[in-house]
Amino acid sequence: AIMVASSLATISEVLGELQRAAGATERLIEILQVKSHITAPSQDLASANGLSAEVAFKNVTFHYPSKPDIAATEQLTLKADKGKVLALVGPSGAGKTTLFELLQRFYDPQIGEVSLGGVNIRQLEPASLRQHMALVPQHPALFSSDVFHNIRYGNPDASDEQVIEAAKKAHAHEFISQLPQGYNSFLGERGVRLSGGQRQRIAIARAILKNPSILLLDEATSALDSESEHHVQQALQELMNNRTTLIIAHRLSTIQHADKIAVMDQGRLIDVGDHQSLLQSCPLYQRLVELQFKHNS
Ligand code: ADP
Ligand code: MG
Repeated sequence: AIMVASSLATISEVLGELQRAAGATERLIEILQVKSHITAPSQDLASANGLSAEVAFKNVTFHYPSKPDIAATEQLTLKADKGKVLALVGPSGAGKTTLFELLQRFYDPQIGEVSLGGVNIRQLEPASLRQHMALVPQHPALFSSDVFHNIRYGNPDASDEQVIEAAKKAHAHEFISQLPQGYNSFLGERGVRLSGGQRQRIAIARAILKNPSILLLDEATSALDSESEHHVQQALQELMNNRTTLIIAHRLSTIQHADKIAVMDQGRLIDVGDHQSLLQSCPLYQRLVELQFKHNS
């Protein structure tokens, strides 16, 4: 029985990755994940809406089921204020991505709590919890389908006009219009090849269409061509406007503009502050800026 349980955990971790790649399997994965990692809530409060878009991690300690010896986050307490930008920085393995996983309830922490608008998210059904947020990953997946369908994934009920409106705000309309069949062009493995920056703008358009109160952005590490870079930055500004944003930051301009920066290392929160104050007070931050961010600026 133990064998079965641990292989189930591994499968659902792999599926967690797949979910980012393929929306069609979402429901299946959710069922698996609810069974393997998280306990279904007794009462679903998310449908009650009206939750303030304030995210808090309180004394959160979490070990991945497949890596029980290492704390991916340890006694971590951190707040993302409503409508503000919180940047997460730290070396690889610091626990940045794990915070996103916990916030989306792909896992529940062993100790402590994650809350949304003061409500412990354990009380929220993962599907309705995730309605409050959009994730823009580093390498957004495209479906083997046309542009309309790829963007509409953010909101299946959206009209063609709404899709186009979102694409315009995401600075994607221009390049989409220049594709052989415009919005009817086929994307994905056998379709039109898009650049990294174009894929990101498709993902940003999805998020704009979803119109969530909370944004989870995993900034690309690889440099985009400067034309794309400019458009992506503009699109992100549009997207972040008036939303609570958590961003795993890889660019100097991002951390300079963030309202608050959380410096993490090996699952722990090392320091919190703005760019200037951290430059003064936090040696790890100084090192990160020297080594990591100056390259990507
Ligand atoms: P970061 O995003 O800051 O690079 P992560 O949150 O990905 O850090 O990782 C934090 C710790 O959790 C690391 O020790 C990493 O090896 C571990 N970890 C991350 N994802 C998984 C996973 N799916 N299964 C097991 N361990 C993981
Ligand atoms: Mg990561």
